[in-house]
Amino acid sequence: MKYHSLKNPDYKVDFSEALLSSLAPDGGLYMPDSLPRFGEGELARLGALPFHACAAHLSRFFVDDNFSDDDLRDLCADAYDFPLPLKTMGGVVLDPATPEPGDAYIMEMFHGPTLAFKDFAARFMGRTVSHLLSRSGESRTILVATSGDTGGAIGHAFLNLPGIRVFILFPEGGVSSVQEHQLTSMGKNSNVKAIAVEGTFDDCQALVKQAFANKDMSAAHNLMSANSINVGRVIPQSFYYFWTSLQVKGAFPHRPIAYAVPSGNLGNLTGGLIARKMGAPIDKFVVGNNANHPFVDYLETGTYTPRNSVPTLSNAMDIGRPNNFPRILALFDGDHEQITKVCTGSHYSDEQTERHLRKTYSRAGYLMCPHTAVGHLAMQDFTGATDKKYTEITVSTAHPAKFKDEVERVIRANVPLPASLKRSVKAKSRKHLMVPSLADLDAYIRDNV
Ligand SMILES: *Cc1c(COP(=O)(O)O)cnc(C)c1O
Repeated sequence: MKYHSLKNPDYKVDFSEALLSSLAPDGGLYMPDSLPRFGEGELARLGALPFHACAAHLSRFFVDDNFSDDDLRDLCADAYDFPLPLKTMGGVVLDPATPEPGDAYIMEMFHGPTLAFKDFAARFMGRTVSHLLSRSGESRTILVATSGDTGGAIGHAFLNLPGIRVFILFPEGGVSSVQEHQLTSMGKNSNVKAIAVEGTFDDCQALVKQAFANKDMSAAHNLMSANSINVGRVIPQSFYYFWTSLQVKGAFPHRPIAYAVPSGNLGNLTGGLIARKMGAPIDKFVVGNNANHPFVDYLETGTYTPRNSVPTLSNAMDIGRPNNFPRILALFDGDHEQITKVCTGSHYSDEQTERHLRKTYSRAGYLMCPHTAVGHLAMQDFTGATDKKYTEITVSTAHPAKFKDEVERVIRANVPLPASLKRSVKAKSRKHLMVPSLADLDAYIRDNV
């Protein structure tokens, strides 16, 4: 499949080029030129596969000759060696073969190594990049701006891969303490370095964008982005919507399906919309935003107004200028009315989020992370306003213990750390403190070759 630049649809490249260069030379985001569309028979066949095999099959349509079917099978089996359960709040896991009656599920995407859904994309990306670089003998420097979870997932996925260095930029004081430990504990001599920027996430993202736009710097370091501006991050995020919707349809064939997606940069939502275009049986996407809600405003008014972000409890969604908005427009040819037929959404204050987190914990005994609570609230308001009977799937984007301090304060109870988090919290933390300056960033990268 070819990819084109959203700024110039005639400029087309292969997957490998789109992945390794991140943005088109004109600064445009890459987008798949066409999408496969699967019919009933093929959907049934793909839904019967295990997740990693379904992902391998789908990925064949998105890559190029540098990847054989065997490469993709091995790569996906290796990347996706952890479960992806759909659970009721009572803890019943959906089994399409013997479904118990149920209509509301939490899609727990936090069973990967860094306990956030970003592992799904980062691990696919790490393995595809490493496959290409090992064949060509080239090297890359990855710059990644993170508001919390991306840095950990990318750092972990690229840790000690040959030919790759990773610099993670995060807002000093702007990520949870567990997240900071995960980002800064990759080891003294590892290829992953954490930079604490004295500013907001938007400052980090702006700095990364400036570095890429600077031709000298970009060429000198072979820069590559692992943020969701890179289409290699977005493609694998379609796989889990595709596969889980088929599981749910198998269990409850006559009910429409709605996913609630707690959103910031809209990469997760873009993945879902791509899955739907490929034929996944999804009727609605319900977007949950926090106090940063340019997308929900766009859905309501048809006007898109990017803005500066404000800090909230669901910090991974503190995004005022979502990267993937142009991709969503492109998927619908810019037609606001068509977008609102598929997407709806609401936004919530921290106070509402906290109350909901407390309520679901005390009444249903289910503890969610603050991001998931925003999505769950949006789903509740959506289903409350319709009399159609949906199977509801709330995408749970992170394990609540990643936000231990915040969640403990809200529920006034102890939140135990899973084993992998205990390890990174104990490991020595190392970070480089920096003002948001391109020259300083350039110097630091040079010093750490
Ligand atoms: C990244 C992230 C989000 C937002 O996902 P986008 O793809 O940026 O919309 C939501 N929740 C958590 C926990 C995240 O890490």
